Amino acid sequence: MCNYTADTDSQTILVDGLLKEEFTMKKISKAEYIALRKRGESYMLEPVHDERLKEQLALTGEKLFNFLQQPLEDIRQWQLKRISYLVDYAFENIPLYRNKYSKVGYVKGSIKTWDDFYKLPYLRKEELIEGFPGEIVKDVDDFVLSTRSSGSSGKFVTIAVSEEAIYKDTLQTVRQFNMQSGQKYMPEDTILYIYTCPWWVDNIGGNYKQDYLPTTTRVDVAINHIKATRPRYISTYPTYLEKIASTGVKLSDYGVELVIVHSEQSDAKQRKMLAEALNVEVLDEYSSEELTRIALECPKHHYHLEEDACFIEIIDENGNRVPDGEIGLVVGTNLLNTATPIIRYIQGDLAKITKDQKCDCSNNGRIIEGVKGRNMDSIITDTGECIPASCFMDIAYNWFLVYEIPVHGLKYQFVQTEIGMLDLYIIEGEYSLDLDVVKKAIYTLVPKSTKVAVHKVDKLPYDNGTKYRPVISLVRR
Ligand SMILES: [Zn+2]
Repeated sequence: MCNYTADTDSQTILVDGLLKEEFTMKKISKAEYIALRKRGESYMLEPVHDERLKEQLALTGEKLFNFLQQPLEDIRQWQLKRISYLVDYAFENIPLYRNKYSKVGYVKGSIKTWDDFYKLPYLRKEELIEGFPGEIVKDVDDFVLSTRSSGSSGKFVTIAVSEEAIYKDTLQTVRQFNMQSGQKYMPEDTILYIYTCPWWVDNIGGNYKQDYLPTTTRVDVAINHIKATRPRYISTYPTYLEKIASTGVKLSDYGVELVIVHSEQSDAKQRKMLAEALNVEVLDEYSSEELTRIALECPKHHYHLEEDACFIEIIDENGNRVPDGEIGLVVGTNLLNTATPIIRYIQGDLAKITKDQKCDCSNNGRIIEGVKGRNMDSIITDTGECIPASCFMDIAYNWFLVYEIPVHGLKYQFVQTEIGMLDLYIIEGEYSLDLDVVKKAIYTLVPKSTKVAVHKVDKLPYDNGTKYRPVISLVRR
């Protein structure tokens, strides 16, 4: 492990005797980048984590579960204290923040009021991508636990995650299902995730088990799995759930009570139709890799901010904070993760914080409305099959997870102009790509008869900088 010695006068940062510039040059090679996820997975799969989580749940569970029932003033006070700690930590340890905050004259201990915090500059995704690896962590070894996101901009970013953040996030999953199920979630219940990749841990001391299927799983196979395992809860993409609903099954017949959808935009009407078709409750989760849980839909259908996971602000396009009730860009500060701190990060989605904050569900987290994020299309094959956009986004993740393609900094867009054809446009990131392997990955999803073309480009065909969409269909329905 290396240690920083920060010299506040000269702003020279020394890392194990190296000048900061030399340290930043310590790049992560292609092979090392690919090995990252596996290192983290095998580390987190050690049973010691399940036991430690069980201890933490016993010690902190009650406080955690009651956090959002506190008066909002108390919640805000806690947030300010946490943010003050995080900003100082980032300033002292993370080169990106050291440089950024030095420029505005920040000195340690400056955050005593919210106005002090609001003076800090915003963080853009590009800064995280360019700062990878050395500028966005204290120590490149912190990338043992890391996560990748293409988010609503479709450009991959790699951030390090601390073990402490993964633990808290796991315990907040228990709180999430307690809340969204109306306190029906039990330690012996299983949640089935139909998702891109499994969560770091799959149980807490033998309880709160998580099962997993990749979204590339055929829907009939997934339904048979649900029949056989009877999970009480499912967490998946709305487009995947639509596909399940299109088969005519009633998930209630297989013991399912609640489905949580996330990662793609879904509206209340769509969720209500899905709930009726499947005879289960369907509620939304608004989250991102960078900020974790942002807001959760309660059983009364309000989106409450997860005030101890991240702190949310809404700004206009000039960067001014907008009053409650007005729509603007979502900016978030991750309150869990210190490995790559995410402070005043422009998330890229639109939303507003409501003026009326009353809800009878007893959650005092601020309420947001009108979240607009990814609006995506499905792709139609020549056999008439409709493949949800989420599957294509998962394929993009699988370039990394399964096909060992280093995705950092890469940006992509799938475009379907006519049935039976599919074009993929890629702007290369940090590492060079083998397009044949990319193509091979796409054919795991579409039939062999589909004409797939992969193009390396400098600019994506449908990207005007504001409303980027990773999967676009121009086929008339
Ligand atoms: Zn509520």
